[in-house]
Amino acid sequence: MKRTTWKKRKKPFPLETPGFLRLFFVGVGSAFSKKHNQTNLLVIKGHNHLLIDCGTKCPQALWDLGLPVTAVQHFLITHSHADHIGGLEEAALMGRYFAKKKPDMIITDEYKGILWDMSLKGGIAFGELVNGRPLAFEDVFEPLSPEPHPVLQREAWKAQSGSIDLILFRTKHIPDSAAGWRDSFFSLGVVIDGRVLFTSDTRYDPELLLECDARYPLEAIFHDCQFFTAGVHASLEELKDLPAGIKKKTYLTHYGDNWVEFREKIRRYGFAGLGNQNVCYDFPEQKRPG
Ligand SMILES: [Zn+2]
Ligand SMILES: [Zn+2]
Repeated sequence: MKRTTWKKRKKPFPLETPGFLRLFFVGVGSAFSKKHNQTNLLVIKGHNHLLIDCGTKCPQALWDLGLPVTAVQHFLITHSHADHIGGLEEAALMGRYFAKKKPDMIITDEYKGILWDMSLKGGIAFGELVNGRPLAFEDVFEPLSPEPHPVLQREAWKAQSGSIDLILFRTKHIPDSAAGWRDSFFSLGVVIDGRVLFTSDTRYDPELLLECDARYPLEAIFHDCQFFTAGVHASLEELKDLPAGIKKKTYLTHYGDNWVEFREKIRRYGFAGLGNQNVCYDFPEQKRPG
């Protein structure tokens, strides 16, 4: 994996590469960070792009990269916290009324109901009547169903966004009292092209990391992290108990504004480091055998 810093320039951030896989964090901050944007991730490969999560700060963050939110044509949403979905209303309304484009979204039927009925409907549905009825999810996003994919010891799906392969799996995020992913509210993590694990939001769940690391040839792991132990994210003190081989390819994301105090400890514990905003994480093209 090669890291290069993206310097702001006149041209918009490119949503394509010559063919290799690129990860670019629109932000690396926690839900309430004021120094970073929220942990939302652009995945780009050749002519394909996918935005994983679109939080409250995301449309502004994209704008700062020279991109209107309507430049994003493909979404994957991991769960319903505002740092992951707060920008979707803007994406939907700008798409319908200004850009006249309907982006697609990889989403299970179950989560589509949750996302629309509990979050998006109030702000989108009643702006307009279509054949006498309020707008529905399908009027603003094209849903793409992932396929159930029982390869992990938890609910999982596979999906394809152009040439980008995705494995989606349930995580153990909320409530803080849930014993495992089964009794947690719907939330997802993602394996990208079998090479990168992105947890989005989860509590400490070593079985997940051990299982994914054994099953996929992971080159990098991007894991959410908070600097205190409690609540709904894995903490630095919990994550330090992971095997050294996992830690050395793990970059911490979704972190608080006091990260500077922990940089030294993160190094000492053997992590790859903090994930960074404005950095391109590039994974060289893999030649297919034959
Ligand atoms: Zn979050
Ligand atoms: Zn969350």
